[in-house]
Amino acid sequence: MSSLHRLPSPAPRADATSLLIALRDAVPGIAAEAATLDVDGAFPEAGLDALRNIGLLAAPLPPALGGAGFGTTPKNATSLATALRLVGRASLPLGRLFEGHVNALRLVLLHGSPAQAEAAARDARQGRFFGVWNTDGFGEPPLALAGGVLRGRKILCSGAGWVDRALVTARDDPEAPPQMLLVELAPGERADLSPWRAQGMRASATGAVDFTGLSADLIGQKGDYLRQPDFSGGAWRFAAVQCGGVEAVLGLLRAHLNHTGRGGDPHQAARLGQAAMAAETARLWVDSAAERAEAVSPPPDTVAYVNLARLAVERAALDVLELAQRSIGLQAFMRPNPIERVARDLATYLRQPAPDRALVGAAAHVLEAKAEPGDLWG
Ligand SMILES: Cc1cc2nc3c(=O)[nH]c(=O)nc-3n(C[C@H](O)[C@H](O)[C@H](O)COP(=O)(O)OP(=O)(O)OC[C@H]3O[C@@H](n4cnc5c(N)ncnc54)[C@H](O)[C@@H]3O)c2cc1C
Repeated sequence: MSSLHRLPSPAPRADATSLLIALRDAVPGIAAEAATLDVDGAFPEAGLDALRNIGLLAAPLPPALGGAGFGTTPKNATSLATALRLVGRASLPLGRLFEGHVNALRLVLLHGSPAQAEAAARDARQGRFFGVWNTDGFGEPPLALAGGVLRGRKILCSGAGWVDRALVTARDDPEAPPQMLLVELAPGERADLSPWRAQGMRASATGAVDFTGLSADLIGQKGDYLRQPDFSGGAWRFAAVQCGGVEAVLGLLRAHLNHTGRGGDPHQAARLGQAAMAAETARLWVDSAAERAEAVSPPPDTVAYVNLARLAVERAALDVLELAQRSIGLQAFMRPNPIERVARDLATYLRQPAPDRALVGAAAHVLEAKAEPGDLWG
């Protein structure tokens, strides 16, 4: 673990345009690191340092707190969507980690007290890394809060052992809605990465974290974590990272066809065209969902719209994976061809909570709506 992780360097202030230019410059280095980290327990340390040095860890803060306001208005939402796509295109594990950082900051800013928001903003400006850990072990009691002290653990915690500030959900009553807490963690503390033996996303340091005996700051009220439209509406951010993965596969498919001189074959050309359509469909859904979810007053159909967006991106990703694997053939399944790793990362990261519920909920909205189909999302 680098000393930089322990003593993060302050992030420079920058506007959205210069942040995105700096990120585009950093993408080749992030992608090069990702290619070397396809092993259990790995973590994209240099990639995170790059985001930190560019100022992206502070970018989701509003300008008044020293950030670029990424994701805080419809206009800035597309800047954040672009950043999430670019990071995801270079490294899906780093994209997942950055998405969690953005989500945690957003929840503290939205639901924390002014002093908690100030403290989180200061930490982010200093380069501290945040995460959101909500998943309780299947068949285990959920993380419990008794007398201000935590008991139990969370599973599927990305950045376990690396996150400096973890936003977790816990319950003081199994029947009551969860309470958010912000926990300060030291590097390497309480993390168990041994259960994460996943097909892809190996370098996301996703593991279990035991919180027993820790106390932490309460953030907001019970139930705030699940408050709509933010809870489901925030899915546009993981969809943006996934969209970056789709673009990575498309880029690798194109490079293969150019390299092999097979791109003029009509079957190959048709598949490349279909893959390009799917990737652009995903990007358009993501940008549109981001603008809607980050409106000053998100419209009432936001949850339904974002649910469709996340599933449209999933569909596009599955289609592009199939098209690329068919076009490239066996080489797409052979290490060290980068598409072998990126495809595993993308297929794994596509698994997000309750896709059936998202589709059925959106369908119920369409069923009940009075507007003509073309005006449904006016
Ligand atoms: C790389 C990676 C990193 C992650 N990092 C984090 C993290 O940092 N923090 C965190 O909190 N979580 C994290 N997660 C967990 C993530 O948020 C989801 O909880 C997890 O991916 C859910 O996947 P699943 O396919 O098991 O979902 P499920 O929701 O279990 O879905 C599986 C299938 O079951 C269906 N289904 C769901 N519920 C029901 C039901 N009640 N009855 C019948 N069918 C049902 C679904 O529609 C779907 O078809 C991470 C996951 C990944 C892949």
